[in-house]
Amino acid sequence: MRNLITASVAVVTLLLGTACSKKDKISDPAAPPAENCTSCGELSGLRPGEKFVTIEANGKKVTLIQSGDRYKLDPDVYLSDRQLAILKGEYKGNEDGRTAGPPTFIQLWPSRTVYYTLHWNLANPQVVEDAIAHWEDRTNLEFVLRTNQPNFIEFKTDENNACWSESLGMKGGLQKVNISAACSVGNAIHEIGHAIGFYHELTRRDRDYYVNINWANIRPDWVSQYQTYLERGIPGFEIGQMDFLSIMMYGSNGGSSAWDPAIPVWTDLNGNTHTRESVLSDGDVQMYNLLYNPPNIQIVQLNKVRVQTPEGRGFQWEDELRITTAFTWPWPLEIAVWVHESNYDGSYYTHYEQYTLQPGQTTQAMGEGWQINGSSGEYSYKRTAATVYQ
Ligand SMILES: [Zn+2]
Repeated sequence: MRNLITASVAVVTLLLGTACSKKDKISDPAAPPAENCTSCGELSGLRPGEKFVTIEANGKKVTLIQSGDRYKLDPDVYLSDRQLAILKGEYKGNEDGRTAGPPTFIQLWPSRTVYYTLHWNLANPQVVEDAIAHWEDRTNLEFVLRTNQPNFIEFKTDENNACWSESLGMKGGLQKVNISAACSVGNAIHEIGHAIGFYHELTRRDRDYYVNINWANIRPDWVSQYQTYLERGIPGFEIGQMDFLSIMMYGSNGGSSAWDPAIPVWTDLNGNTHTRESVLSDGDVQMYNLLYNPPNIQIVQLNKVRVQTPEGRGFQWEDELRITTAFTWPWPLEIAVWVHESNYDGSYYTHYEQYTLQPGQTTQAMGEGWQINGSSGEYSYKRTAATVYQ
């Protein structure tokens, strides 16, 4: 099936995160004292017992972090068993109901609803509650305390000095998000980002158009952490331009990954360094909308306005049908529409039209039906309905 609702320019991003950052930009009253985060840098180090391992993933060598019998994509992101199997090409399940095509790597939370619990060992419930409130304030995502729902997030503190998420997107069943006393509200917002499907922003496949990676300052083990998702054999996409303000963007300080932490591991193309943000950016919200509020194109039929044509030969209906979308998109949105018309003689006619919603535009008139009482006889048609072709 073709999808004719296309983004002609790419936007935001699936993005990136870090475990405990000491560098949240805005003052965060819930942030713990920085000294609590003794082992956390911009890119937190490996936990005790963890090691880098290389697996074959979709024909590529992909370096992951082995942590016990589980694997992490990044220091703060575990892969679910399902995601690991997909990467290895060993996934046999079909729970997403597809009869053909690859399985869905990222599972979204149905109905924009995340069920969750706060475990008794959670170091600072207020940090989680503030992060949830921020997501709910900026998006239409809803967090609901779990009763008996099968799929849910358990916020807890199994590891001190660590902030991580157990899956990219919904794991299925219980999935943990570890929020320790060292995690700020910004860190918790970031980890929730992973739990609903966001990648790290720096892993965009087009990131080299926006940043310079200082490979000379990156320890060999850590090179994989600076590969794009494409280089790691992971399906994904990005929208718009690289979003330096994204909650999923690492700071320029490479932490454990750098030979010399005083030297940045990446800068923008002007040589500027960046620190991590602690709130969702507009770009993050746009990506959220793309994932959880698909363009939602609708055709609405208005009360027709019958006006005389400029030639005075008859009438036309202005703006009978209009395309609307609930959100503004930061790139031109091409929309294909089947238009159904009824003719004066009772016949029907369907044809295809294409429209473009420009950035920021939420409505687009679809042209008029018309009626002419000319010397050649009355002829009219009325645009009765239209459907978006997907
Ligand atoms: Zn992260």
